[in-house]
Amino acid sequence: MKVELQNLTKIFPSRNKKSNEEVVAVNDFTLQIPDGKLVGLLGPSGCGKSTTLYMISGLQKPSGGKIFFGEDDVTELTAENRGVGLVFQNYALYPHLTVKQNILFPLQNLKGEYKLSKQQMLDRAYEAARLVQIDELMDRKPSELSGGQQQRVAIARALVKMPKVLLLDEPLSNLDARLRLQTREEIRRIQKETGITTIFVTHDQEEAMSISDMIVVMKLGVVQQVGKPQDVYDDPTNLFVAKFLGTPPINVFEGRVENGTVYIGDDAVMQVSGVEDQLVTVAIRPEGFIPEDNGPLCCNLVSLEVMGRDVSVVSKHAAAVSPIIRSIINSDAKIDTSAECVRYSLKPNKIFLFGKEDEKRIYFEVK
Ligand code: ATP
Repeated sequence: MKVELQNLTKIFPSRNKKSNEEVVAVNDFTLQIPDGKLVGLLGPSGCGKSTTLYMISGLQKPSGGKIFFGEDDVTELTAENRGVGLVFQNYALYPHLTVKQNILFPLQNLKGEYKLSKQQMLDRAYEAARLVQIDELMDRKPSELSGGQQQRVAIARALVKMPKVLLLDEPLSNLDARLRLQTREEIRRIQKETGITTIFVTHDQEEAMSISDMIVVMKLGVVQQVGKPQDVYDDPTNLFVAKFLGTPPINVFEGRVENGTVYIGDDAVMQVSGVEDQLVTVAIRPEGFIPEDNGPLCCNLVSLEVMGRDVSVVSKHAAAVSPIIRSIINSDAKIDTSAECVRYSLKPNKIFLFGKEDEKRIYFEVK
């Protein structure tokens, strides 16, 4: 099912009697999600991800804009009539019911043409349980399951109604690191197997990038960038997006462009054309540094952290905005740890320039 958001806006009235300041939780959000894709809504706490998801589900009414499922305008439909499956962070299972009863629950109140026989309900429940691989656990209570298993039950319960759209709100937050990894792969597998258009909310960029066909980066209710994860990483539209994506994070410096040369402090790091003289913010991905004896960027070495295949070099630079600079280099590269300064040349496609004030991307050509 294709999902389309048109100028979706949510304004919450002020709670404070003294000030009338409203909260614009979601501001003019327009997006087309093709059928069968998994979309990650991504951004820091309070950026409007959950509010967007709740509007798509029908749990919250938009202040403006429209929502389409396929060709149908569903903006005015109630949550029950939209055919969405919702999974929350805290599983929200009924503790006194078994796994089987929890999964059956959404099917028991279906009315009219949607009403199912007992056998049909059981068949559906077992099918959903098999899909999330918990069919062996059907007679257990939620308290007898691990966090990851409980979350799978919640997903099975959302799938059993065969939703047109699956909505997941931080579904992995309560799981430990290993289970998170495993469960996110599971979600991807289930989504591919069912082909259900899925929208996934997370503040964890790595999680969103690893499983999404498309990510949407939000800030203060406003969409910053939409695209395939790798495309957004390689071509961020502003400093916020560049900083939000990537582990280790991008390294940020104060710089300037003067007569076609990009400077970081006194270091002339790159020749460019197409950029006027101005103060800029220079951001360099950790994989953009190449240690080289005559490299133009001179950083003060702090430490080396060997991580098997790669080495993470921690250094400082007077013009760095980030407290430390972290570069990831191949472990074969030689770094002289006795030298005060580690010299780097830089990969031009890993350097981004941004306006000092507006923080928008400044595009350049390398000379
Ligand atoms: P988190 O990752 O912390 O869940 P989020 O990106 O999902 O954050 P939302 O929960 O959508 O953010 O909230 C967006 C903004 O709307 C926040 O500033 C929040 O305080 C505000 N907000 C959310 N719900 C309400 C409400 N019912 N009344 C007033 N303000 C609200």
